[in-house]
Amino acid sequence: MTVRTRLAPSPTGYIHIGNLRTALYAYLWARHNNGQFILRIEDTDRTRLVEDAVDKILQTLTDVGMRPDEWPHHDGGFWPYTQSERLDFYAPHLHRLCEEWTAYYCFCTSERLENLKKEQEELKLPPRYDWHCRHIPLEEAKERIANSEKYTIRLKVPKAETLVFNDLIRGRIEFNTSEVDDQVLLKSDGFPTYHGAIVLDDHAMNITHVMRWEEWISSMPKQILTARALGITLPEYAHLPSVLGNDGKKLSKRTGDAFVSEYLAKWYFPEALLNFLSLLGWHPKQDEEIMTMDEMIAKFEITDIHKSGAVLDPIKLDWMNGEYIKRMEIGELHTRLARYLEQYEEAFYRAVFSQKDYQFNTRIIAELQTRMKRFDEFVELTKFLYSEANIRKDLLANPKMKIESEADGLASLKFALPLLESADYSSLDALKAPILEAIATAGKKNGQVLWPLRVALSGEEFSPGAFELAYILGRDESVSRVKKVLESAK
Ligand code: GLU
Repeated sequence: MTVRTRLAPSPTGYIHIGNLRTALYAYLWARHNNGQFILRIEDTDRTRLVEDAVDKILQTLTDVGMRPDEWPHHDGGFWPYTQSERLDFYAPHLHRLCEEWTAYYCFCTSERLENLKKEQEELKLPPRYDWHCRHIPLEEAKERIANSEKYTIRLKVPKAETLVFNDLIRGRIEFNTSEVDDQVLLKSDGFPTYHGAIVLDDHAMNITHVMRWEEWISSMPKQILTARALGITLPEYAHLPSVLGNDGKKLSKRTGDAFVSEYLAKWYFPEALLNFLSLLGWHPKQDEEIMTMDEMIAKFEITDIHKSGAVLDPIKLDWMNGEYIKRMEIGELHTRLARYLEQYEEAFYRAVFSQKDYQFNTRIIAELQTRMKRFDEFVELTKFLYSEANIRKDLLANPKMKIESEADGLASLKFALPLLESADYSSLDALKAPILEAIATAGKKNGQVLWPLRVALSGEEFSPGAFELAYILGRDESVSRVKKVLESAK
């Protein structure tokens, strides 16, 4: 049997970080088994639709490299994939249940149901349908429908039966139907409810495995009973652990949404993000953290998913992104950074970055490669490299480096200037070796020369070392920066 998994979001917003993790697990499991991953849109709740949500969801999945095999505009033999376009499919199945007495027509008005709810609230009873229409004979119900009375279809839930199902992560779970309401399956507007639609759709689309948030466990009794009434077998279920914020609370819909659409696409590499998300609730047997998509696919097992909630730690996400930056080939890193800057730091990109040659830019990128965690740090970290450096004579003295005064610092710069003028800038080592030799020959300590040189080249209290700076800046700029400090002291 071909493994088929699905993501079944409601188009009520952009993709939530938790849904992206659900999508990833569904995708990994499908790919691990050479199966298919489907995007189905659950839009039966007509009040909360967001217009371009479907496009955005598909776009996000595509951007992160998880394009589904089938989606509303890409048929794999099960079209349509949007529930509002499948109304003709649900209705006959649900009416059949009324014929077979496993469901019934309900004519209660919303007013009556409201009053019932209020009464139950006052009596501190759980809100339940009171079976008012459960015993209306079928013929009578049909007549009322023929007379255009509004109706819904409700599932006939047995009084006190134990239902059991086996969750792939949590094992055996039991429910007692005495706690289950007679669920509406078909609404009076002709739309199925979530429970009615999902059971029919998963079956009709040959879905074999459902991954979804653990909150949905409570819907299992209704779905088990609906499937039983319909005479169909349910897929296997893996109810995934919640994703918690750093404060231990569940991610709110709002923070979760913003996180994906506004920040994730912008700040993090999709590979790093997915790698990070994969570990929010799953750990491969081999204790590895950095994995390519192919490695994740190969290693992914539902039995290695944890039960307890996983914490979304932004510091770990930054670290993970930094690891991807560290491992990336420099040309590729340059391409991606340029793309980022062009999109999000346009002024800097046009006036500065794109004006410098590839070699200059890649030397800077290489210098930052082990330290930069996200691209949005780039402009700040490199300000003094791309624009003129501050002249900070106050930083020249540094007793720890045996430079007792500003004058000592300036003397070191005078010593370093000819060395910079004649240095070889073709590689960091070529630049370094002769200068270190000259310092030693002159009987000086490295810090005595390199500290003031670093200050002159960067104009900053903290920066990369003097050699790295000189190597990035090249001969002309290095010499000019040192000269400016010397001139300012005249
Ligand atoms: N439409 C539901 C959601 O938005 C799908 C739940 C399920 O997978 O059964 O999460």
